[in-house]
Amino acid sequence: MSPDAETALRFHVETLGCPKNAVDSDKVVASLLADGMLAADDASSADLVVVNTCAFIETARQESIDVSLALSDRRKPGAKLVLTGCMAERYGSELADALPEADAVVGFAGEGSIAEVVLKRKPTGVRDLLELPRAKPDAPWAYLKVAEGCDRACAFCAIPTFRGAQRSRTPESIEAEARQLVEAGVSELVLVAQDIAWYGRDTGQPGSLAPLLHRLDALAPHGLRRIRLLYLYPSEVKDPLISTMLELPTVVPYFDLSLQHASATRLRAMKRWGSGDRFLAAIDSIRAREPEAAFRSNFIVGFPGETESEHDELLAFLAAARLDWAGFFAFSPEDGTAAQDLSDPVPADLTAARLRECSEVQDPITAASRDALIGTEVEVLVDGIDDETGDPVGRTHREAPEIDGVLRLEGAYARPGAWVRATVTAALGPDLLASAVAREGAA
Ligand code: SF4
Repeated sequence: MSPDAETALRFHVETLGCPKNAVDSDKVVASLLADGMLAADDASSADLVVVNTCAFIETARQESIDVSLALSDRRKPGAKLVLTGCMAERYGSELADALPEADAVVGFAGEGSIAEVVLKRKPTGVRDLLELPRAKPDAPWAYLKVAEGCDRACAFCAIPTFRGAQRSRTPESIEAEARQLVEAGVSELVLVAQDIAWYGRDTGQPGSLAPLLHRLDALAPHGLRRIRLLYLYPSEVKDPLISTMLELPTVVPYFDLSLQHASATRLRAMKRWGSGDRFLAAIDSIRAREPEAAFRSNFIVGFPGETESEHDELLAFLAAARLDWAGFFAFSPEDGTAAQDLSDPVPADLTAARLRECSEVQDPITAASRDALIGTEVEVLVDGIDDETGDPVGRTHREAPEIDGVLRLEGAYARPGAWVRATVTAALGPDLLASAVAREGAA
């Protein structure tokens, strides 16, 4: 039943946080559409404003609250405000008390039924968010969530406490969603999960990620050109997964390694696997097999007990690993985590200084890896158009959407979804300029 555009109620969904939240928002949108609502042009014209919150660290929580208050102010009279996502799940009643502006605070179990708040009737059908269909994609790439939750217990991380244990989707259901996305024009799939390499372990089938990649690679004749994986726990960066990633034509050699530190002592305190030497060995061996491989990682700085020499170990690791991209985060003690009450905290000013030192080592490395691409020919998926110049903007296999830099095709004409071969002409910080040499696809 298609809703009457004149009378249908309108919604606006605002998404904060990580790519996994973006997938949930897509599915919330699909459920609202299935309930007969239509997308509003913006928040101020919506009858229902949904904020998909993030609870990752204190600054993310504050941003979620600030955005909710700002959207609440912009609401038209009578419009409802619903808070959902990680903060709603983790701090449900506290959040409801702190933000009386919200008409409802809905945890994960209710995310597929948000329209109920305004429609005041029970929704029908399947409402498991992980399995809900999603709205038609508006970009030539899309996140695809293969599992929810996490079975590990990293000392700093609260995710398992509110996302629960890992729950892998079936390969059939993932393939069906991938096929739907590809048939709707998506040519790059970005596979996400809290701990993607453990996909299938909870269903008694460890090592299922490589077979899943084979299954998705078979969508190439339908238009799938790239598969990208995010969040690889380092102990799982080994064969047969690595061979599969390097051999399958659609899977890009982009390694998003969740390393967090290089000191084995600090990693053990974080209740994590590995050491700088092991990480370097894995990175070197992948580079030897695939010189085009790109690497990203995140690190926590100022974890309790982090000594000066451990911090120096991290700096030396960064210099040796020469990662293309790296993010650094100050440790934040999270409720319900093992690290919450650890003694020996690192003073905030020392953490800030260490963060600066990490950036001082990493920024020139990232810049050099971008400069090294000047003069090379690359394959670009055009994602959009630059507002100021009108030039197409896209990404090669080295840039994950919404996370890394982008590439601008100077003076070219190509629509989103087009694949363009281009020569890199300059590097501007994390971004690249390029000139098109050939175009194919939906230009
Ligand atoms: S693997 Fe990732 S999601 Fe799981 S507990 Fe560790 S940091 Fe959190």
